[in-house]
Amino acid sequence: STPAAIASGLAAGARRGLLVKGGAALEIIGRVRTVAFDKTGTLTAGRPRVTDILALAPDASDRSVLGLAAAVENGSSHPIARAILDRATEDGVPLRPTRDARAIPGKAMQATVMGQTVLVASPRHAAESVRLGSATERVVADLEASGKTVVIVIRGTEAVGTIAVRDEPRADAAAGIAALRKLGVRGVMLTGDNRRTGEAVASELGLNVKAELLPQDKLAEIAALKAMGPVAMVGDGINDAPALASANVGIAMGGGTDAALETADAAVLNDRVGDVAALIALSRATLGNIR
Ligand code: ADP
Ligand code: MG
Repeated sequence: STPAAIASGLAAGARRGLLVKGGAALEIIGRVRTVAFDKTGTLTAGRPRVTDILALAPDASDRSVLGLAAAVENGSSHPIARAILDRATEDGVPLRPTRDARAIPGKAMQATVMGQTVLVASPRHAAESVRLGSATERVVADLEASGKTVVIVIRGTEAVGTIAVRDEPRADAAAGIAALRKLGVRGVMLTGDNRRTGEAVASELGLNVKAELLPQDKLAEIAALKAMGPVAMVGDGINDAPALASANVGIAMGGGTDAALETADAAVLNDRVGDVAALIALSRATLGNIR
């Protein structure tokens, strides 16, 4: 019978780490026309590493730039912050104490260090308070064009240095996107990262991209995609809860935390991008059995 087919579809998925919250969610998944992916922690492993450090101020060194950034990022749980703190630990750079640490979501982390305001910011946000100069702008653009994310370290009103990080795509990401395409489903990457970095990673994976999105912009993009048919949003389930909730179906990826499964309609537990295509194929097979 119909409930039996759905129950066996749900069970078959669960055995492969594809968890779906019920028959209604399983049915929508098979009809999805577009899958929107968060970049960081979803298409990539979410563990960026520092690749380049560049001192800009005359009195700055690579080590002092790293130390200043790490002190500020000590109060943040952002993947960029973890990358900078990991590198400071590896290089044995001590962290100065800070006051008034605060995050500016999607833009920067800020704190007071030795009486001065220090900002670790996206180049776009940095440009609101400092002039970088054309030589530095060119260096930043080149780093971004190779898929790296660059942050500017600003002390007071001066840019003291830049730090680049790179977050590698998951091993199966390109193949997983290709599998989706074979099912006739459009894939798009939504990211808060800058346009050049987003485009570099998206083109490695064969995806369209919308970059420089603030959290509320991701909701607007999902609403626009819905005009073309049902939309699935795939995210790590923590920062992406509103986007997961606003899609026709939210799919949590990464480790299978309880929090992720709470907001999402489905979860893929094995950190494989290809599991999204597998989920759609499972749904279609199950619905096919019913009709
Ligand atoms: P994503 O959508 O890729 O997860 P976010 O919205 O988290 O990106 O962040 C967007 C951008 O904001 C980052 O690429 C970075 O430039 C800047 N940013 C956010 N948080 C921090 C931080 N703690 N330190 C430095 N830069 C940050
Ligand atoms: Mg994110």
